[in-house]
Amino acid sequence: MKKYRLLVTVIIAMGIILIGTSNPITNLQKYTNMINKQDIQNKQDNKKNSDKTTDNKPSNKSNNSTKPNNNYLICIDPGHQEKGDPNLEPVGPGSSNKKARVSSGTAGIATKKPEYVLNLEASTVLKHILEGKGYNIIMTRESHDVNISNSERATLANEKKADMVIRVHADSLDNSSKTGASILIPEEGGKYTSAIYEDSNKCAESIKQSMNEAGINLNGIFQRGDLTGFNWSKVPVVLVEMGFMSNYNEDQMMSNPDYQRKLMQSIADGVEDYFRNK
Ligand SMILES: [Zn+2]
Repeated sequence: MKKYRLLVTVIIAMGIILIGTSNPITNLQKYTNMINKQDIQNKQDNKKNSDKTTDNKPSNKSNNSTKPNNNYLICIDPGHQEKGDPNLEPVGPGSSNKKARVSSGTAGIATKKPEYVLNLEASTVLKHILEGKGYNIIMTRESHDVNISNSERATLANEKKADMVIRVHADSLDNSSKTGASILIPEEGGKYTSAIYEDSNKCAESIKQSMNEAGINLNGIFQRGDLTGFNWSKVPVVLVEMGFMSNYNEDQMMSNPDYQRKLMQSIADGVEDYFRNK
């Protein structure tokens, strides 16, 4: 009987151990499954997060990088017109100082071409190059028989909320040996133009660099506080004097389609660099 009792006790004890240990084993398996599931869940969450990070990248990039070219509006002003208008207009808003509304400009010593004709020729080339880069363009004039004063040209760009104004002109001087392009910008700290000086100067610097790279003969950047077309402008503005019509060779060069295109390409490239670095 004692052996039998001992056997029964042993069986009961083993049963208790089995029952006792079955729960930990089951629990261990459950925990293992939970850990595995948690692990997988974590991995999935990480993946989702990394996916989100990836998803966010393009929008972050588009927020931080420059806008595409078609977000910008550029106003091109081909200087002068067929008949000047000697009637006076204020040189700036509220100014008692007055100048002729607009003149007909100079003329070529070799080509005999009027400046207003050359300005529109070159401006049209510039328009096509900038449109090719995707920019939106408005022109102050596309024919010669118009009467738009310098303040009215500036006001047009203001009202259209242009991002930049490019004024296209050609120089003349009594000294026929003088050559080279010049870039004019509003005066720093000018009474009417302090708000547009910085961006005008940045764009001018960018055009200067581009002209230098293209091998264009350039005299430099000059500030002007006396130009009606600058003083009325709320939009950053640069005026490019393409060269001297009073110099025989430069006058002919400016009417050469290849040189004209090279010059306008360098202006357009400079403008594009300006907007990219803005
Ligand atoms: Zn001019």
